[in-house]
Amino acid sequence: MRSQLDSRSVPSHDVLIIGAGLAGQRAALAAAQSGATVAIVSKVHPVRSHSVAAAGGINAALNPDDSWESHAYDTIKGSDYLGDQDAIEIMCRAAPDEILWLEHAGVTFHRDDTGHLGTRAFGGASAARTYYVADITGQAILHVLYEQLMGHHERLDRYEEWFTTDLLQDDEGRCVGAICRNLRNGRLELFNAKSTILACGGAGQVYRPTTNGLIVTGDGIAQAFRIGARLMDMEMVQYHPTTLAGNGLLITEGARGEGAWLLNAEGERFMERYAPNKMELASRDVVSRAEQTEIDEGRGFPDGTVALDITKVPRQRTLEALREIVNIGRDFAGVDITREPIHIHPGQHYIMGGVKTDVEGRTTIPGLYAAGEVACVSVHGGNRLGANSLLDTLIFGRRAGEHAAGLLRELPMPRSSNSRLLDTDRRIAEILGREPGHGRRVAAIKAELGDTMNENVAVFRDAAGLTRAHETIRRLKEEERTAAIDDHGTVFNQDVIGAIELGYMLDVAEAIVVAALERKESRGAQFRTDFPERDDDQWLKHVDISRNGTDVPTVSYSPVTITKWEPEVRSY
Ligand SMILES: Cc1cc2nc3c(=O)[nH]c(=O)nc-3n(C[C@H](O)[C@H](O)[C@H](O)COP(=O)(O)OP(=O)(O)OC[C@H]3O[C@@H](n4cnc5c(N)ncnc54)[C@H](O)[C@@H]3O)c2cc1C
Repeated sequence: MRSQLDSRSVPSHDVLIIGAGLAGQRAALAAAQSGATVAIVSKVHPVRSHSVAAAGGINAALNPDDSWESHAYDTIKGSDYLGDQDAIEIMCRAAPDEILWLEHAGVTFHRDDTGHLGTRAFGGASAARTYYVADITGQAILHVLYEQLMGHHERLDRYEEWFTTDLLQDDEGRCVGAICRNLRNGRLELFNAKSTILACGGAGQVYRPTTNGLIVTGDGIAQAFRIGARLMDMEMVQYHPTTLAGNGLLITEGARGEGAWLLNAEGERFMERYAPNKMELASRDVVSRAEQTEIDEGRGFPDGTVALDITKVPRQRTLEALREIVNIGRDFAGVDITREPIHIHPGQHYIMGGVKTDVEGRTTIPGLYAAGEVACVSVHGGNRLGANSLLDTLIFGRRAGEHAAGLLRELPMPRSSNSRLLDTDRRIAEILGREPGHGRRVAAIKAELGDTMNENVAVFRDAAGLTRAHETIRRLKEEERTAAIDDHGTVFNQDVIGAIELGYMLDVAEAIVVAALERKESRGAQFRTDFPERDDDQWLKHVDISRNGTDVPTVSYSPVTITKWEPEVRSY
C-alpha cells in the first residue's frame, strides 16, 4: 500500500531506501519499526541481492572469553589504522546483540556439540568470533530479514525489479527522492521522500575478474558522487586471497578458518615467511601480497596461482561446513577439494571506500544517507577483516534507518518537479535510439575497463600503471557516450540498464584511480611499489573525492578519528 499519494499518484514516503540487500532490508525494518512509511527499491528481487553470496560468517565478540575491545583492536589493526575508531567501537559493541536478535528472528546459526552457538576463526582475528550458517551465512540472514519485512506491509512498500537512475535534490541541495525505472515495462517514476538511504552495495564489476555478481556496478557510489556527495577511502580495494583463476569465484576464508593451508608450487607453506604468527589467517591484504609475491617471483604454478590445501580439514567437516565450496571446486575447477589442493590466486572482492558518512549514516548531502558496502563510515579503513562486512551492513543499516525515521516528523513531504523525469526520459531515449554498429559495444568497453583495473590498480600499484589506467578510463568515458545496444524494447531491457551502469562504473573507477594516485604511501590494500612504506606523518588521513563542478574528481582530506588505539607497527 502506498502510504501517501498526491494527485499524480507519485510514490511518496518518509524514507526511500535504494537497495534491498542486508543493509537496505535492515534499514527498512528499523525505519518501519520507528513509525516511518518506507519504500524499498531493488533492481533485482531482494533475496537475489548480492548479500546472498556471503559465505563464511559474521563477527561478534559474544563468547564470555572474548571482548568488544579485542574485536575493535583487531579491526583497527586490520584497517592499518585508517579506520575511524569511534565507528569501529559502535560496531563492535553492538555486534553481540545483533547476532542474538538475528538468532531470535530465525537465523539458524551453527551450534556446537554442547548446543551453544559455534564459531570459526577468521583472518586477522585474535579469537574465533565468526558466527555462521555452514557457508551460506548471507543467504540465511537475507531470507530471514525478508520474512520480517512482510510483517510491516502496512507501512512498507516493496518496489522489486525497479532501477534507480538518479537522485533528486531540491533548490537548497537537499536530497528529496529519486527517479526509478520499472524494469517490467520501462516506465519511469518520480519517488518523493523526506529522507533517502542508499544501500546499493559495492562496485566489484569495475574489475575483471571479481567475486562480485553482475549486478554489483557501483550505482549508488556514482549517483551520490554526481550530486556532489563526498566519497572516502576509494583507493582501498580488497583483493581476496582465495579466488579461482579465470572466473574469480570465491573460496571462502572459512576454508582457512577450518584449517586449510596455502602452498606454493614447491610444496612450501610460504606464509611462514610473511606472517609466522597468524600464517594463513593474517589479514587479507597481507595474505594476498604474499601470494602475489610467490607468483611474481616464480614459485607459483604456470597458471599464475598457488594452491589451497583443504585436505588438511577433516573430510566430514568439509562436507558439513563448507559444502558450497565443495560444489564450486567440482563444478568450476573439476577438483574434489576434500582429496586434492585447488589452485587459487588473489582476486578483486570488496571496496572499503564509498560514500562518506557519519556514524548515523548521514552523507555530506542533507537528506541522503548511505549504509553497507556503498558507504564508508569508515570501519574498514585500509583493509576489511573477513566477516566484518555483514556486521557493518546490519549495524549501520539499522542506525541509518532509525535516524532517518526519527528526524522526519516535522518535515513536509517534498514535491519534485517533472522536469528531472523528462531529462532522464530523454537520456534513456537517446540510448535506445543508438543504431547497432554505431559505437563500441557496452560489454567490450566494460571488459577493457575491468582488465585495465585488474592490471594496474590491483595488489601492487605504481604511478606509471595508475596513470595508464586513468588515461584508459578517460578514453572509455568518451566511448561510453555512444556505446551501442541491441535491445530497443521496453520490457526487461537489460541492455539499456547495462549502458547506464557502465557510466556509473567508469565514474567509480576514476575515483579509485585518482585516490590511489594521490596516496603516496603503502597502507592496507594500497601497496605502492614506488612508495613501499607506511607514512603516518604524511598520510594518516582519509583521501576524500568529490565532483565540485570539475570534470576530473577533486581530492581533499579528512582526519582519521583515533580514540584510544595509537598506530603501531603492523605484523601478524
Ligand atoms: C562471494 C562473496 C562472499 C562474501 N562473504 C562474506 C562473509 O562471509 N562475511 C562478510 O562479512 N562479508 C562477506 N562478503 C561481503 C558482503 O557480502 C557484502 O559486502 C555485503 O553483503 C553487501 O551488502 P549490501 O547490503 O551493502 O549490498 P548488496 O547485498 O550488494 O545489495 C545491494 C542492493 O542494491 C540494489 N541496487 C543496486 N543498484 C541499484 C539501482 N541502481 N537501483 C535499484 N537497486 C539497486 C540491489 O538490487 C541490491 O538489492 C562476501 C562478498 C562476496 C562477493
